[in-house]
Amino acid sequence: MICQDSKVLLEVRGLCASVNGIRILKDLDFSVRSGEVHAIMGQNGSGKSTFAKVLAGHPAYEVTGGSALFEGQNLFGMKPEERARAGFFLAFQYPIEVPGVVNSQFLRLTYNTVQNQRGKEELDPLEFDDFVREKMKLLEMNPDFLDRSVNEGFSGGEKKRNEILQMALLEPRLAILDETDSGLDIDALRIVTHGVNQLTTNDNAIVMVTHYQRLLNYIVPDYVHVMDGGRIIKTGSKALALELEARGYEWVGAEYTAAASVPA
Ligand code: ADP
Ligand code: MG
Repeated sequence: MICQDSKVLLEVRGLCASVNGIRILKDLDFSVRSGEVHAIMGQNGSGKSTFAKVLAGHPAYEVTGGSALFEGQNLFGMKPEERARAGFFLAFQYPIEVPGVVNSQFLRLTYNTVQNQRGKEELDPLEFDDFVREKMKLLEMNPDFLDRSVNEGFSGGEKKRNEILQMALLEPRLAILDETDSGLDIDALRIVTHGVNQLTTNDNAIVMVTHYQRLLNYIVPDYVHVMDGGRIIKTGSKALALELEARGYEWVGAEYTAAASVPA
């Protein structure tokens, strides 16, 4: 559902990035308009999580070339927290545990920070408690998770749900979900993807990073991209994901190399 009044949310051009001096992203182009759902697929080690972390502003990753505009602003000129306040959200592939920080307090602080940025009302602990419990119902999460430390001792699937709970609270403009499906059993996958689908509007966009076509049965993408060697080498429709499942990834790389070696 790409509507006519959609606008560019993210425009990445020629992105190059390194970690520990190793070049990972190499001349990557990618853009997202509001109302769109994208899937980025690719073999292990192709650079998908690196791309997501570079966009979020992870300090270990160095941008060595290219540009990224987020709603017209220079994304790489913004601190990670400024990106989050501006409506950029990343659900991590491996959410970290934060012992000693109570989940409800963490969630309320992040929520209020974003509300404040948007000129909207902050919630006190009691008001927030009602609000967050409603959101938890959407994800069929037990409210007991509010009283525990952030992600501490959560199972893989519980961590993923807690990530999507943050997304439900923050209502980002652009959400990148890095392998949110991994660690979820089939019932949890259905619940979580239903929650994500409820959050999509014509004003926001979702980028799903995944290995598996299975996820795309639940959240149907407008575009499927194949990442390889730190760049996007092919873009197609949902049908491409089915083809990847049937044929693997190697043929895409071969096709790309063959096209690149044809003289112009
Ligand atoms: P994907 O998410 O597609 O599986 P990643 O972005 O996690 O791939 O990794 C891309 C490549 O970058 C891999 O070869 C990985 O080993 C390397 N890499 C990622 N992070 C680091 C790091 N902190 N130090 C060294 N190499 C890294
Ligand atoms: Mg990854």
